[in-house]
Amino acid sequence: MTIRRYSMFIGGDWVDADERFEIRSPATEELVATVARGGREHADRAIAAAKAAHADGRWRQTPPAERAAVLGAIADRLGERLDELAVLEALENGAPVRQAGAFQIGFSVAHLRYFAGQARSYAFERSGPLMGVPTLATGLVRREPVGVCAAIVPWNFPLLLAMWKIGPALAAGNTIVVKPDEHTPLTLLEFARIAQECGLPPGVLNVVPGEGPVVGARLASHPDVRKIAFTGSTAVGREIMRMAAGNVKRLTLELGGKGPNIVLDDADLDLTADGTLFGCLMNQGQACESGTRIIVADAVHDKFVERLIERTRTITIGDPLDPATDFGPVISAEAQQRILGYIDSGQAEGATLAYGGGVPAGPRFERGFWVEPTIFTDVRNDMTIAREEIFGPVLAVIRSESTDQAIRIANDTEYGLSAGVWGTDHQRALDVADQLEAGTVWINDWHMVNAAYPFGGYKQSGLGRELGPHALDEYTEEKFVHVDLSGRLDRRAYALLLSTPPQRE
Ligand code: NAD
Repeated sequence: MTIRRYSMFIGGDWVDADERFEIRSPATEELVATVARGGREHADRAIAAAKAAHADGRWRQTPPAERAAVLGAIADRLGERLDELAVLEALENGAPVRQAGAFQIGFSVAHLRYFAGQARSYAFERSGPLMGVPTLATGLVRREPVGVCAAIVPWNFPLLLAMWKIGPALAAGNTIVVKPDEHTPLTLLEFARIAQECGLPPGVLNVVPGEGPVVGARLASHPDVRKIAFTGSTAVGREIMRMAAGNVKRLTLELGGKGPNIVLDDADLDLTADGTLFGCLMNQGQACESGTRIIVADAVHDKFVERLIERTRTITIGDPLDPATDFGPVISAEAQQRILGYIDSGQAEGATLAYGGGVPAGPRFERGFWVEPTIFTDVRNDMTIAREEIFGPVLAVIRSESTDQAIRIANDTEYGLSAGVWGTDHQRALDVADQLEAGTVWINDWHMVNAAYPFGGYKQSGLGRELGPHALDEYTEEKFVHVDLSGRLDRRAYALLLSTPPQRE
């Protein structure tokens, strides 16, 4: 395999650095690419480039329909390169290539198209007569770009989660500096190349691969960055919030989750078993919105678990580059050890290991970072595996004696990103959904994020929303302009009496 060599993208230039990251396939540990390692000085340089590009007005003053055309062209080009980029994503983070094509890259294309559409339809300006003032006046409400934005994204869906920030930021006329995770900068750097080819002006998009506490922290605390959008763990999210407080930055946070998945007693168990596996095991369970706590009605519990295990046996584990693969490796040796540690804790705390629990057997799995799909039954919601985000392929099955109890268990978590309900009585499932504290609830499905609808968390799963018709609100400042048309300031009850008081009749 040819080892690719990448630079950073700053101010429209490809910038090298003395130090480089090695990007290795999590499936084979083979070297895939080396990437320039950005430091604090590169973050500063990228922020300065983004600030200059905002100040020169080339992008901000481009009419929204023309911005939309550029973003649309980028989305088209991304779509043309979908297969190649899906392979690159499989190489950098181990996602099965079939899933990477449909979800990671496919959704990136679709979601960028949505934001191009938003640039066309968003109400950047409203005007109208002013009510409740004593003189003839008119008002304008403008939504202006905030200026330099920054995005910090994790490794699990590196391009897609970057698109949720780059899309609305650029549609609204901002400039942006993006820091990918150090494991997965490749698809984003290819995206920058595409954006450059499609005519995005220099400095509008900058990509600085680097370490979180160095480049990420600089972006979160720099006074010239007006808005920061972060996706990652709740622990780092809290840090970002503290750093952003230093200069009162606008902030969106998409953080961790511990998604409850309620199986009602009237659920179609075949559909539910498959949906549950999809909900928990997609991307080897490395998704913030995964349904990791399966709360099953007592009446169907045993039958459901039997079906779940039967279907788990059919999952094809192996080479992420093979389109027949369902399930690949986890991201790193540390992640593998962390997940195996959680599996030990589940056993130590008295849960029953019903399936998996280790590294798959065979020579194929001697290199790379593998963990079997794992199912625990007899889980109580106070066990560590039910409380902490494992971020790996571990399902915790919890038995519930009533729907009310299932809802109580579902909400008994510090998180609130996603939840799900499975049942054939749709009204009843909807009544349950109404009582769940989560930003997204899927009924009889999972993982269906939709660019036209908001995504984000209740409680410690985040702050603000990405996607949806209001996504650009998070990337604009609202300005009210009052225009008096009367020339009669004296008619104000609280006007200064600068000369002769008006005569009363
Ligand atoms: P992480 O928080 O360790 O890292 C995420 C990003 O933050 C990386 O780019 C990293 O380099 C950077 N970072 C780390 N320390 C930093 C610091 N001190 N200052 C600034 N930046 C810093 O997360 P992770 O473990 O790599 O990713 C998984 C987490 O992301 C999970 O908790 C998952 O739930 C969450 N996630 C959330 C969503 C969502 O939309 N809510 C989506 C995907 C992942």
